[in-house]
Amino acid sequence: MRLYSTLARGLVELPKPPGPIGMYVCGPTVYARAHIGNARPYVIACWYKRWLRERGYDVTLVHNITDVNDKIYEAAPGASAERAREATEWYLEDTGRFGLDEVDHWPKVTESMDGIVAFIADLVERGHAYEVGGDVYFRVSRWAEYGRLSGQKPDQVEEQEPNPRKEDPRDFALWKANKPDEDTSWMSAWGEGRPGWHIECSAMAEQLLGPVFEIHGGGLDLVFPHHENELAQSRARGHEFAKVWMHNGMLRFTGEKMSKSVGNVETIAEALDRWGRETTLLFFLTAHWRSPIDFSDGRMAEAEARADGLREVFRNPSEPAVVDAWERFEAVLDDDFSTPAALALMHDWRDHDLLRRALDVFGLAGLAEQEEAPSEVHALAAGRQEARSARDFVRADELREQIEAAGWEVRDDSGGYRLVPRQ
Ligand SMILES: [Zn+2]
Repeated sequence: MRLYSTLARGLVELPKPPGPIGMYVCGPTVYARAHIGNARPYVIACWYKRWLRERGYDVTLVHNITDVNDKIYEAAPGASAERAREATEWYLEDTGRFGLDEVDHWPKVTESMDGIVAFIADLVERGHAYEVGGDVYFRVSRWAEYGRLSGQKPDQVEEQEPNPRKEDPRDFALWKANKPDEDTSWMSAWGEGRPGWHIECSAMAEQLLGPVFEIHGGGLDLVFPHHENELAQSRARGHEFAKVWMHNGMLRFTGEKMSKSVGNVETIAEALDRWGRETTLLFFLTAHWRSPIDFSDGRMAEAEARADGLREVFRNPSEPAVVDAWERFEAVLDDDFSTPAALALMHDWRDHDLLRRALDVFGLAGLAEQEEAPSEVHALAAGRQEARSARDFVRADELREQIEAAGWEVRDDSGGYRLVPRQ
C-alpha cells in the first residue's frame, strides 16, 4: 500500500495490514457555511479509510473542528461562541449528506483546552517557547528541522504574526493574550487568552492518536505555515508525530481557486442541492487526490452523465468481467489511491456484483439500486403488452407515449418488458 507523502517527497509504503492506521485530517474553521472545496479533504479521507478497511486495515479517522479563531471573532463580533456552534452544526449536516460517515472523532478546540495548555507549558519548559506580554511564541531558531516539510530554508521563512516584541520575526504564536474585541478566553499560566491555530491540531491529534501515528492530511494550502508548525511543535517534544503527510490538491472554481473576495464560491449545501450526492461524489472521483480539481457546471454535468452511465449498467443483464478485474482495481488504488484509474476500470465493467462492490467503496452503491416504477405505469406497460400481442400497434404506441409522459421508458426483453427511468 503506497501513498505520496509531502515530507518524503515521494511514495512511501504503509505498514502491513492491519496497521493500525491513525489518520488526522484538518477540519474546518467554523464561521460560515463551508464551501464545496472544504468537502474535498473530508471526502478523500473517508474514501481512503474505506479502502484501507477493505484491504484489512484497522483505521481511526480524526477530523477536527476549529471553533476558536480570528475568522470567527471577525464573522460574529460579540457572539463568536454561538456562531461557532451553529456553523459546526452546518458542517456536520452538510458533510453528513455525502453518506460516508467514517469520522471516528470530531474533536473541538473548546473541548480540548487542558491538553493544549499542557502542551504549550511543556514546550516552554523545554526552552522551545517563550512568553512575552501574555503571548507565547515558538522559538523557530532553536528548531533546526524547521522548514523540512514545506521546503522553506530556515533563513527565508516568511514572517508570521508580526509583533515587535517577538525574539525573531519567524516565531509563531502558541498562545494569544485576550484582546478587547475577542469575546471568549481561557485562563492559563500566561493569563487570559486562547490558543494559536497550529498548536490546536498538534494537541488534538496526539490526544486521540498518540505521539506517533501514520497519516496527517489536509489541503495543499496547509503545508505552510500550519503543518510546518504542527510538525515543529510536536517533534520539539521528542514525539515523531505523523509519518505520512497527505496533502490534497485544491478545488478551483472555473479554473480559479475559489475565493471569497471574488465571490465565486458555492457551498457544500448548494452543490448537493443542485447536483445530488452521487453526482458530486462522482465529480470528486474523476481527479487524482493530489491534483487540483475544477468545479464548474460543465464538469458537474459530465459527472452526472458518468453517474447515469453507471446506473444504466444495472438496467441491463449482468455480464462477467475479465478474471483479474478486481485485482487490477486493487492495484490502482493500492498505488497512491488513483481514483481516476479505478473509475476508468469501473466504466468498462458490466458485471453487476463486481461493479456494486467497487461503487460501495466510494459510497455509491445506490447507483446499483433500481428505481421501481409506480403501479399505474406498470398497468400502462401491461396494457401495451396486451395490445402488442393483439397486434394493435396504434394502441401500443399510444400507451408507450403515456408511459414516457410519466417519466419512464419501456424496454422489451425476452422476459416481457422492463421499465427504466427516462434520461
Ligand atoms: Zn490543522
